[in-house]
Amino acid sequence: RTAVVLFTADLRVHDHPPLHAARRSADALVPLFVRDPAVDRAGFAAPNRLAFLADCLADLDGALRERGGRLVLRTGDTVAEVCRVVRETGADEVHAAAGCTAFARAREARLRQALEEHGCRLTVHDGVDSVVPPGDVVPHGSDHFAVFSPYFRRWADQPVRAPLPAPRTVRVPEDVASEPLPSRAAVPAVSPGLAAGGESEARRRLRSWLSRHLDAYEDRHDVLDDRAGDGTSRLSPFLHFGALSPTEAVHRARAHGPGAGADAFVRQLCWRDFHRQVLAARPAVARDDYRPRHDHWRRGKDAEADLAAWREGRTGYPLVDAGMRQLAHEGWMHNRARLVTASFLTKTLYVDWREGARHFLDLLVDGDVANNQLNWQWVAGTGTDTRPNRVLNPVRQAQSHDPEGTYVRHWVPELAGLEGAAVHEPWRLTGLDRAGFDYPDPVVALADGLARFRSARAAD
Ligand code: FAD
Repeated sequence: RTAVVLFTADLRVHDHPPLHAARRSADALVPLFVRDPAVDRAGFAAPNRLAFLADCLADLDGALRERGGRLVLRTGDTVAEVCRVVRETGADEVHAAAGCTAFARAREARLRQALEEHGCRLTVHDGVDSVVPPGDVVPHGSDHFAVFSPYFRRWADQPVRAPLPAPRTVRVPEDVASEPLPSRAAVPAVSPGLAAGGESEARRRLRSWLSRHLDAYEDRHDVLDDRAGDGTSRLSPFLHFGALSPTEAVHRARAHGPGAGADAFVRQLCWRDFHRQVLAARPAVARDDYRPRHDHWRRGKDAEADLAAWREGRTGYPLVDAGMRQLAHEGWMHNRARLVTASFLTKTLYVDWREGARHFLDLLVDGDVANNQLNWQWVAGTGTDTRPNRVLNPVRQAQSHDPEGTYVRHWVPELAGLEGAAVHEPWRLTGLDRAGFDYPDPVVALADGLARFRSARAAD
């Protein structure tokens, strides 16, 4: 028997239910990845993610080769390519992971129908990309949870299955043709500080971060200055590409615990599942407001100019600019900085969250429809936040989470001459002192931004 294992956002061999099931029921496997232009057109094709993807595919191929197999790569429509491989190999079954986006679900439905016509069985596995699959826990009378805390309570009560081992051997039929794997070096316009991808790197990072930093996570996850080591795990890109299983991450964190660090980290992983179950139940929230009640976003030339200043990290608010520059340089941003930059755009500048979400998706290596769109909506007050009118003050946030100004001085080097927390308010300088810094004045005074926000929300 031959089985095709279709890899999508699950680029790993450890804790991989489709691979595990296929290995048990078939003698030969075709591990297949399809470069589908429709995925790119749907917004995936950002340079940082393409580069990280190339790393993940190379690493997956390496892991399969160590086990006697290899990765088969094809380009084209996923359904057509899977059917082609099924015809070429006479495969009887196809295994794939369930997805939570409208795109993934439509692709799955088409694939099921097409494979039926070939007399081939499709098995779609839950729990590959999430710990608790969308729809597994629901509140009374609804198909999803709209509020995180009650979701978390139910989620935390669910049993977590033990992670599956990687297969020891993988036999791939010899005559299956593959295109060459993409190379990271060939992707243009990648952020210079982009991290390396791949399952090996994910596992190394998980191991070292858990042993060195998990215990301090509860206290340090909001600290922007990372001189003492990463306060957060930086595992999000690996989770996004499935180079790391979220189930394994929960398991390993709990095994390392117990403690406040492990509990807080596991709770954070629950946010992924929370957003996934919202998106699965309401696919339109990738574009539309989850709570459609705010419709007075600023538009026109002034708003465009503010948006450009925000994108380029020259709003005149050092913490906002530091975050935006970290994003451009690394293709990643600390969660606290994401919250502050997103609140600044949507509340202080009152620009539509979709503009910010688009820019993040252009650059984020972990850029993810569920997490990005729904976190943006959470901050903008159109989503699942129970306090939609809260506004983060970028100066107070900077004083709390970057008290010595280290994060800001690193990313906004033109302010490096300002010591301590003075770096957060360069506009307080006057005369020649101010003129010595080549740094813009604030695009708007915070009090004016707040007044505009309140009057717009009053009109909504
Ligand atoms: P850690 O603190 O180590 O957390 C562990 C894991 O938990 C993360 O890797 C991530 O998978 C998950 N997680 C943590 N916080 C959240 C959250 N709020 N929502 C969902 N999952 C979470 N995360 C993405 O993965 N992709 C995105 O496109 C994305 N866009 C965001 C946009 C905005 C405006 C905001 C405010 C947040 C966004 N996040 C996104 C969530 C969060 O900022 C990142 O997951 C986190 O910064 C990743 O860093 P880490 O791996 O070190 O996190």
